Amino acid sequence: MKVLVVAAHPDDEVLGCGGTISRLAHDGHDVYITILGEGITSRYKQREDADADLIEALHNRSCQVAEVLGAQDLFLYNLPDNRFDTVPILDVVKIIEELVERIQPQVIYTHHGGDLNIDHVVVHRAMLTAARPMQGQPVREIFAFEVPSSTEWSFQRFEPSFRPNVFIDISDTLNIKVQALSLYETEARPFPHPRSPEAIHAIAHRWGTIVGCEAAEAFELIRSIQ
Ligand SMILES: [Zn+2]
Repeated sequence: MKVLVVAAHPDDEVLGCGGTISRLAHDGHDVYITILGEGITSRYKQREDADADLIEALHNRSCQVAEVLGAQDLFLYNLPDNRFDTVPILDVVKIIEELVERIQPQVIYTHHGGDLNIDHVVVHRAMLTAARPMQGQPVREIFAFEVPSSTEWSFQRFEPSFRPNVFIDISDTLNIKVQALSLYETEARPFPHPRSPEAIHAIAHRWGTIVGCEAAEAFELIRSIQ
């Protein structure tokens, strides 16, 4: 099986489905990771003020993370951080369309449309367009993941709210997820931030308790064609 992960920012791929990527790769599936945004430039007043070396270092980290998770390949793009809504959505659609055409994935994991972060919302929307089920569309299933500090921080004010109905047991790969996340030093936050290692453990265990395993990642099935 070929799986495409479409993430907005460096670290979303780990936060959203890092344990699942690792498990799928271990089970012999080909997982491809795409990160559409350059990351971190929103922390500067002007996008141009951001240190190019820092952005490159972050991209290098993404490569290491992809390797740790066992991904087959990684595709990096440079959409402006937290400003995806300033890019024509058609441009975002075309990037994803081209990837789908090239990789021919049967499954896509991506952001949820009810997130607080605007880039996540744009990616969800663009992905739905890029993977619309016309004849010849390889994508059979689309799953939306949660990103701690974005999905829950919309407080169900934006429709639709995240309603997970698919759970993947990551008991064996939770440690790899946390290890991969630790490579993104610039994105690290101390507990009780939702992206801290302690919180990542807590969230995985919480989902695990709901479905009778030690640790899980939660997804919302957006569409399935069988
Ligand atoms: Zn993000």
